Amino acid sequence: MHQMTLAEIARGLADKKFSSEELTKVLLARIAQLDPQLNSFISLTEDLALQQAKAADARRANGESGALLGAPIAHKDLFCTQGIRTSCGSKMLDNFKAPYDATVVAKLAAAGAVTLGKTNMDEFAMGSANESSYYGAVKNPWNLEHVPGGSSGGSAAAVAARLLPAATATDTGGSIRQPAAFTNLTGLKPTYGRVSRWGMIAYASSLDQGGPLARTAEDCAILLQGMAGFDANDSTSIDEPVPDYSASLNSSLQGLRIGVPKEYFSAGLDPRIAELIHNSVKELEKLGAVIKEISLPNMQHAIPAYYVIAPAEASSNLSRFDGVRFGHRCEDPKSLEDLYKRSRGEGFGAEVQRRIMVGAYALSAGYYDAYYLKAQKIRRLVKNDFMAAFNEVDIILGPTTPNPAWKLGAKNSDPVAAYLEDVYTITANLAGLPGLSMPAGFVDGLPVGVQLLAPYFQEGRLLNVAHQYQLNTDWHTRTPTGF
Ligand code: GLN
Repeated sequence: MHQMTLAEIARGLADKKFSSEELTKVLLARIAQLDPQLNSFISLTEDLALQQAKAADARRANGESGALLGAPIAHKDLFCTQGIRTSCGSKMLDNFKAPYDATVVAKLAAAGAVTLGKTNMDEFAMGSANESSYYGAVKNPWNLEHVPGGSSGGSAAAVAARLLPAATATDTGGSIRQPAAFTNLTGLKPTYGRVSRWGMIAYASSLDQGGPLARTAEDCAILLQGMAGFDANDSTSIDEPVPDYSASLNSSLQGLRIGVPKEYFSAGLDPRIAELIHNSVKELEKLGAVIKEISLPNMQHAIPAYYVIAPAEASSNLSRFDGVRFGHRCEDPKSLEDLYKRSRGEGFGAEVQRRIMVGAYALSAGYYDAYYLKAQKIRRLVKNDFMAAFNEVDIILGPTTPNPAWKLGAKNSDPVAAYLEDVYTITANLAGLPGLSMPAGFVDGLPVGVQLLAPYFQEGRLLNVAHQYQLNTDWHTRTPTGF
């Protein structure tokens, strides 16, 4: 039962082969048995799950239908869930029970999805390895000595290990696509503004975007359908109609123009990954796509720009955690300043503190022009590169990551080494574009992802290309041994 995709679950529920309650119990038992190896959950919500499953079964018995009605999912632990701990992977919010549901959580619940729990993540979504969580590192089900990627590592490990079919995640600089690549999943970062950020605890507000993590493009379409849409509570949410993402999955790829940027195949890319990416290009060519070499000349500047902008926004967003309003408060403060200093010093981990310091420095009066303003100018150049490329091609294709999942602890002493691994993912966030990662093969038994980028609001096109690719390849069906 645990092998089923969301699409298969929807069919099984509609055909009354099993109930949502039965399925939910099977998956909760599987989580209890297997998750101790992975640490992919911060909180389990068994009571809520069983209550939601029973309600979904009752709605189906009354004639209602819907792809998410009775479907088990989990939420990354930065989506606020009313009355349930919403920790953001931090000691700072270990005691925080959200007073309301995030829009994404409310929308999925209304569609009948069943919440099994809240998944582990890098603290405040800062990281690419899921090692900065206050609740401990998450292990990669493909090799327990390796990281699952981050920051949505808990969602990724849980779905890859077949503990559940799909989960929500967020992507500020790659945190949906990179863990998808590291765990053999399909993950979609939507266009900025497509999915409401209301109730999604902010890391870098101009880059953050929620999206689905699942095993197939077909399932990403189902989950995105439940997440996307205008929300008056989020001033950056876009008031555009949401297309039917499942309807375009079967469009032909005949004549589709795919651009492959020459800058992607530089020295930093593992040659074995380069070969797998070339194989995926050939596969899409067989399906009718036309391949063209393109150039993204400012790509090399994206990492330094991102690692100024994201910490700058984080330093501002995280100033609300001061020990006064909510979250961790130090024992016995001697003064207001002592309260601020010790609450924040005790509540935030090392990576979060590093980013707050970098961000505050970049925004300080004497350095603003040299760092923050310069980074914003680079951001525009990165966007302009994409706009020029999309005049020539419909989709941009390349690797999701330069290397496969590294060993736990391998990059802990050198944060910049981890930042460099984000080279292929962060440009889409800087430009606000949608991007998808899908399975493309294995290196040393570890999964490799291929990334597709599209113009604004063309999530349907990305899902279409990925679905056609998955109808003709079987990488996404491989299961990690032991799960
Ligand atoms: N690795 C990137 C960072 O640490 C991206 C994280 C994310 O997308 N949330 O900022």
